Amino acid sequence: MKKQLGNRTAQWCFLIVLACGASWISQALLPYGYDNQPAPSNTSLKADSSPLSSMIVKPAALASRSFKGVPDFQQFQLDLSKANGLSLGLQPEARPTMANVNEPTGQPPAPPSLPAKPIEKPAPRPLSNRIVEYHMNVELDAQGKLLTGTSSVTWKNPGKLPVQELYFHLYPNAFNSPKTTFMRESGGRLRDDKSTSNNIGGMDISSIKTLEGEELLSRIEYVQPDDGNKDDRTLIKVKLPKAVNPGDNVTLDSVFSVKLPAVFARMGYADDFVMAGQWFPKIAVYEPAGSRGRTSEGWNLHQYHGNSEFYADFGIYDVRIKVPSSYIVAATGFPIKPPADDGKTKTYAFYSDDVHDFAWAASPNFIYYEEPYATPNLPGVKIKLYLDPKHEQLKNRYMTAAKKALARYSQWYGSYPYATLSIVIPPENGNGAGGMEYPTLITGWGAGNTQPDLELERVIVHEIGHQYWYGMVASNEFEEAWLDEGFTSYTEDKLMELEYGVKPNLTIESSYITDPEALKQNSWSYKGHGKYAENVYTRAKLVLESIESQIGSEMMDRVMRSYFQKWKFRHPTTADFQAVLENTTKTSWDEFFKQYVYSGLMVDYSVTGIKSKKVVRDGQTVFENTVHIQKQGGTYHNIPIRFHFADGSQIDKVWDGIDGDVQFKLTHTAQLDWVAIDPQHTIILENKRINSFMKTNVDTRLTARWNLGVVKLMETLFSWVAW
Ligand SMILES: [Zn+2]
Repeated sequence: MKKQLGNRTAQWCFLIVLACGASWISQALLPYGYDNQPAPSNTSLKADSSPLSSMIVKPAALASRSFKGVPDFQQFQLDLSKANGLSLGLQPEARPTMANVNEPTGQPPAPPSLPAKPIEKPAPRPLSNRIVEYHMNVELDAQGKLLTGTSSVTWKNPGKLPVQELYFHLYPNAFNSPKTTFMRESGGRLRDDKSTSNNIGGMDISSIKTLEGEELLSRIEYVQPDDGNKDDRTLIKVKLPKAVNPGDNVTLDSVFSVKLPAVFARMGYADDFVMAGQWFPKIAVYEPAGSRGRTSEGWNLHQYHGNSEFYADFGIYDVRIKVPSSYIVAATGFPIKPPADDGKTKTYAFYSDDVHDFAWAASPNFIYYEEPYATPNLPGVKIKLYLDPKHEQLKNRYMTAAKKALARYSQWYGSYPYATLSIVIPPENGNGAGGMEYPTLITGWGAGNTQPDLELERVIVHEIGHQYWYGMVASNEFEEAWLDEGFTSYTEDKLMELEYGVKPNLTIESSYITDPEALKQNSWSYKGHGKYAENVYTRAKLVLESIESQIGSEMMDRVMRSYFQKWKFRHPTTADFQAVLENTTKTSWDEFFKQYVYSGLMVDYSVTGIKSKKVVRDGQTVFENTVHIQKQGGTYHNIPIRFHFADGSQIDKVWDGIDGDVQFKLTHTAQLDWVAIDPQHTIILENKRINSFMKTNVDTRLTARWNLGVVKLMETLFSWVAW
């Protein structure tokens, strides 16, 4: 799903006024006219002998980097005052009014298509271990906002033990009362959407039988493994009359109905638009020993939570969808025959293999376009647009964004192997269904704005990214959402920068991280949706960017491609990604993962004091300058530090960053003027740059207070405005 921000123009304006204020204050504290002068020869450096210190005078290695003269502390303030929200993926209305609206004019076209013949047939050989096979019929009652369906699901036991019970997710039951776990956790809110109090949806199973015809309804038990909330009916256990042996199959036939809620959390209706996501009884994942680090096999069982998305096994979906004749249906997979129309209703027949979910959308108002597309890395895909009429004139932009994403991702990671990619644009009031991914089907934002800026492209690029980091590399989104959203956000940024020239401002995004938490944890363990989004989208992306900044883009490309190639059509875990990273870079990443992935640390190196003493030595007046620097976050290696003197000279040093703190003593003919840690903002995970700078000539108590005060104020404001 795409992170979405609401209408926060006023908050942004306020923040920018504050940022300008902070910038002004810092300007007042800083001298003018920096020069990039070499360190004078009459400067001596020596390690302090106090027990606290472990100053390391690094020889030229990193000090020879060509730092620019102007410390980026100032640039940071300028960046803040210029922030227009683009790099944060903000909705247009969330942007400050003074920001430039970045219209996609003069963008380069998508790579031209080779002759393309998408093959809309079952795959000649399976790409995945097909554990499930669904054959379903569903009918939309457009007036009653009701789906009625039958499902025949066959499940193969992938383990080494007999299995006596099956589990199914009944996701629509998240909406059947205000007391469900989803509603309690979310407060009826998701992203910027709010459910109305009488907005009830739900799923009812009226029959579930074995192939032999034995009715199992009385064997159904609602289970709540996560929180014991008896009002939650999103997961059922079905005890089988006979165990399924390893490698054997079982088939269950069920009859079900779904009352659609007014669209709010990914699914439901908006007038005559219907988004059917999570609409059928969906079997849970049985994990064999060894899968995702499991030591013993068993079901992976979770309810539907406020923050959580999904997890399922690969297989085959064969689905008939009956709608009123005036409706057009978009769905996962491809049609195996033209829809059959009896004058009143129309029945579509879709098929898809090697996918782990099936979604569809229907509306009488869709404007439909399709175009085949192929590149040297992309064998052939039919891109299908189902547009709300308000966005008809934007069809080329949607098509171009889809082509660019499919071409680039196929080049970077591996071929998009499916015959179709369907893009659904919901109506304005159906935005709750917008910005969501399903296998081979994605949704853009609702068609509220007829002249959208690059958010139109960004959401398409994001959701197509999910075809890789959710659709094919099928992570467990309950337990490790960062592998899905973080990777997709990283990929989205790369594409937006390369194809649309939007460079992310990682310094600003890092400063938004006010509540860092471990990335590998259950989605509902984060403190609210904002903290979930802050971590699994933004912080996770910054972690990947930080890895890239340490190993270089070429190596990072190899890591991402290797990870995709190794884990496509499987279920990796965080440790599997670390292993790919370590195999590719031939380096241990344990320390980094422990701090920044498995714990919620960020980098925070702080200048905590400067003392400058005038002394006379050998008849010459010199200054003994002492600088105290502390590590307040995780360990990072090779911390660049710039010392600037009153005579305009400056010295760049690199500290290994390992110990808790360090003192630098610099004896110089001029007084130390200011100190800046990481002046070029190379440390992506540094989230408190406001304490990375200190000026000598300001009373230290005042400096400390000012710094501390601004840090606290900024943290509060960022956490308020951020999500
Ligand atoms: Zn997403």
